[in-house]
Amino acid sequence: MMNKVFTAQQLDEKDPLREKVNEFSLPKNTVYLDGNSLGALPKAAKERASDVVNRQWGEDLITSWNKNDWIALPQIVGDKVGALVGAKQGQVVCCDSISINLFKVLSAAIKMQPSRKVIATTRDNFPTDIYMVQGLIDLLGEEYSIRYIDEHNIENALTDDIAVLMLTQVNFRSGHKLNMKQVTAEAQRKGILTLWDLAHSAGAFVVELDDCNVDFAVGCTYKYLNGGPGAPAFIYVAERHQQAYKQPLSGWMGHSAPFAFSPDYTPDSSIKQNLCGTPGVIGMSVLDAALSVFDGISLKAIDEKSKKLQAFFIAEAKREGLSLHFINVSPAIEQRGSQVAFAHDDAYAICQAWIDEGVIADFRAPNILRVGFAPLYLTFSDIEYAVKKLALIMREKRYDNPKYKAQQRVT
Ligand SMILES: *Cc1c(COP(=O)(O)O)cnc(C)c1O
Repeated sequence: MMNKVFTAQQLDEKDPLREKVNEFSLPKNTVYLDGNSLGALPKAAKERASDVVNRQWGEDLITSWNKNDWIALPQIVGDKVGALVGAKQGQVVCCDSISINLFKVLSAAIKMQPSRKVIATTRDNFPTDIYMVQGLIDLLGEEYSIRYIDEHNIENALTDDIAVLMLTQVNFRSGHKLNMKQVTAEAQRKGILTLWDLAHSAGAFVVELDDCNVDFAVGCTYKYLNGGPGAPAFIYVAERHQQAYKQPLSGWMGHSAPFAFSPDYTPDSSIKQNLCGTPGVIGMSVLDAALSVFDGISLKAIDEKSKKLQAFFIAEAKREGLSLHFINVSPAIEQRGSQVAFAHDDAYAICQAWIDEGVIADFRAPNILRVGFAPLYLTFSDIEYAVKKLALIMREKRYDNPKYKAQQRVT
């Protein structure tokens, strides 16, 4: 049976999430295919930024810690993020960056496994994740080591000398997505604690941390969760571990009674132990408001739209002859996150030329043009437009223009 081919306009009309784009403040004449790196600006976030600065800070001043409940924000926002990643209340707190949160969780987890000295991860993981392990091992001493395993052959690499298995669910370059439930179960059969990085998962598709029996997770909120540049990250510690867990960045906000000002540290008995210093209230307030775009819709609907957008992108790209120019290095749609990776030796210059046409994607070294699909504010018409522009750039070899080749500091 032939699949009926719909036009972009027809697909937009049938899209159950089509009204969501109105909750975002987007620039005109721009197609944004980089929501996997920095999510777009929700209108609610913009209003909250003004309120938290002008009214809460400007007028209520320090009384805001109580009056506007600043003190509870890390947990309030943590539970909201938790609801989006399948964690019941009290297991997620919002704080710091992924890098810092990895240090806390890895340090705590390795102490929970006193007879094991190995942290396993993939060589192809996001570099900061690897760097944080390297730094921690330097601090812990020579008996400890990092072991690189192949993300396509995890099960065979799981041995009982591994203390913690640290994995990013979706590979930041290729988009390859791991089976969280299966890998977690395989690791736990060998007595290994699991730590998942949800940077490219949270807000993009259904994540079931509790259901997968995950031990620990971290993630950021400025990608698919649209929290804004440098928005605070989050930590998940499964309830069953919260008593044994003790993270070493023992700042006063993680103390059980910070305002008792005792000279001795007593960790809070809840997930709040993961806080260290004073939270960035402005950023966290903006994030809190930004999360309202997820109200009333399911992650399943978001994932379904992402798959449709991606399939439409690939089909349009084929129709425009782009498969002659690029190698699609992403795995099949069921095995990838909400992104597509096209390899080309001139990927950087192509990306710059595309941006000049109003289509923002990104480049990942050495040769990947990375296209992200953030379903809440992308339309099928956007995709059609973007592919047409990319075809034009390739046909006319516009990327050969030297002005597109000079690399900037942030790529
Ligand atoms: C984006 C990203 C990070 C970013 O870490 P920060 O410390 O929050 O800057 C970390 N890990 C992965 C897998 C990422 O994709």
